[in-house]
Amino acid sequence: MNCGQQYPVDQIIYNCATCGGLLDVQHDMDYLRKSVSRQLFDQRLGTLEAPYNSGVWRYKELIYPDVPDDCIVSRPEGNTNLYRTPRLAEWAGVAQLYLKHEGENPTGSFKDRGMTGGLTQARLLGVRRVACASTGNTSASLAAYAAWAGIEGIVFFQNQQIALGKLAQAIAYGATGIQINADFDRNLELVREVADNLGVYVLNSVNPFRLEGQKSIMIETIQQLRWQVPDWIVVPGGNLGNSSAFGKALHELKALGLIDRLPRLAIIQAEGASPLYQSYQRGLDHLDPMHAETIATAIKIGNPVNYAKAVRALHWTDGVVEAVTDQEIMDAKALIDRQGIGCEPASACSLVGVQKLVRMGIIKPTDTVVGVLTGHVLKDADAVINYHSNALDHIHANYPNQLHQSEANVEALRAILESREAILQ
Ligand SMILES: *Cc1c(COP(=O)(O)O)cnc(C)c1O
Ligand SMILES: [Zn+2]
Repeated sequence: MNCGQQYPVDQIIYNCATCGGLLDVQHDMDYLRKSVSRQLFDQRLGTLEAPYNSGVWRYKELIYPDVPDDCIVSRPEGNTNLYRTPRLAEWAGVAQLYLKHEGENPTGSFKDRGMTGGLTQARLLGVRRVACASTGNTSASLAAYAAWAGIEGIVFFQNQQIALGKLAQAIAYGATGIQINADFDRNLELVREVADNLGVYVLNSVNPFRLEGQKSIMIETIQQLRWQVPDWIVVPGGNLGNSSAFGKALHELKALGLIDRLPRLAIIQAEGASPLYQSYQRGLDHLDPMHAETIATAIKIGNPVNYAKAVRALHWTDGVVEAVTDQEIMDAKALIDRQGIGCEPASACSLVGVQKLVRMGIIKPTDTVVGVLTGHVLKDADAVINYHSNALDHIHANYPNQLHQSEANVEALRAILESREAILQ
C-alpha cells in the first residue's frame, strides 16, 4: 500500500519486500465497474445457494472475484441484524441509531467474515497449517474455520485475561492452543517468526485476505439501509483491521458508484489501549506503541499492526478517533445488554463513543449513526456477572441487575418480587 510494488495473489507474503509496508488486495476496478450493481447484490438476498447465501460472498466480486466456488470455506457467515435502537439513540443523543450486530456470526464475532477470506486463501494456496496470535476471538474463529476446512489450526494466547468463552471455543474446535507468557503484541511477533521457520500460514489481520472479507460489514450494512449512506459509522479499534477494512470498502463502493458519498468513520479505543487516539491527538504523525490495559480484552492492543491502513481510512472518510474509559464501556454494555441484544465489552465502545462525540458537538443530534457491535454477550460471561455483582476493580455498576437468592417458598419469593416491583416503578 505504500510503494505500489505488486505481488501475485498466490505468493505467501505478509509485508512488502521492498518497503516493509502492509499489503492490500488490489481489485481491477474497471472490470468491477462493468460487472457489479446494487441490483446484482439485491437479487442474491435470501438465496439458499452457496456461496451467495453468505453475507460475505454475496459480494463475491468485491471480495475475491475469481476464486472457484468449491474452494470457498464458508459457514456461511454474515447476514447479521441491523437493529434500530430508539431508546439507545435517545440515550446517546442522536436521531437515528442502528446497531449492526456482528456478534451474530457463526462463532460470535465479526472475525468470521475475515476468516472465511483467510481460510479460502489458505485452501487456494494448499497450506496444511494456519496460525494466529489472538486476544481471543480471532482464535475462536480460526479454530472453527480451520476445522471446517480440514486444515490444522494453531492459536497463540496470552496466559492471562483471555475471556473464557473464546478460549473454550478454540479448544472445542480442536485447534492446537498454546498459552504464552507474553502479551498480544509479543505473541503476534512470535507467530510471524514461527511462520517463517515452520511453514505455517499466518491469519492475523496483517493478512489482507481477511480484511477483504471484513469489508462486507460495510457493504451489507449499507445494503440493509437500502443503499442509503448513514452519516457516521462508529467502531471499536484494537488492531485496527476492521477500521481499515471499513475504509477500503467505503472507498471502493464510492469508486464503483454503488454509493454517492462516504459516511464518516469514528474509531473508538479504550483509554488504556489507545495508541491510535494518542497519535490522532498529535495529528496522526506516527504510532507510539504502549502497554495496553483494559477490561475490553478484544481491544487490549498496544501496537496495532494496521495503523497505516487505519490512518488511510480516516483520511478517506474524514474520520475521527475517540477514547473511552472502562467505566464508560461497562455501563454502555449494560444498556446494550438490557435491550435484549447484548454484546461483549469491547463492542460497547461504539455506543458510548456516539454519546461522547455528540456531547463534543462532532456528531450532530440530527445525524444517522450506525454503531458496530463486534462480539457476542456470551464471549465474556465473567465480565457480565462481575459487573452486575459490583465485583470489578475500579468500576462501579451504574446499571446493575443483581441476582436474588431465595428460600424455596412463596412468601420469600413474594417479598423479592414485590420489592423488585417497587424498584422498577
Ligand atoms: C477483534 C475485535 C475487535 C477489534 O477489532 P480490530 O480489527 O482489531 O480493531 C473489537 N471487538 C471485538 C469483539 C473483537 O473480536
Ligand atoms: Zn512497498
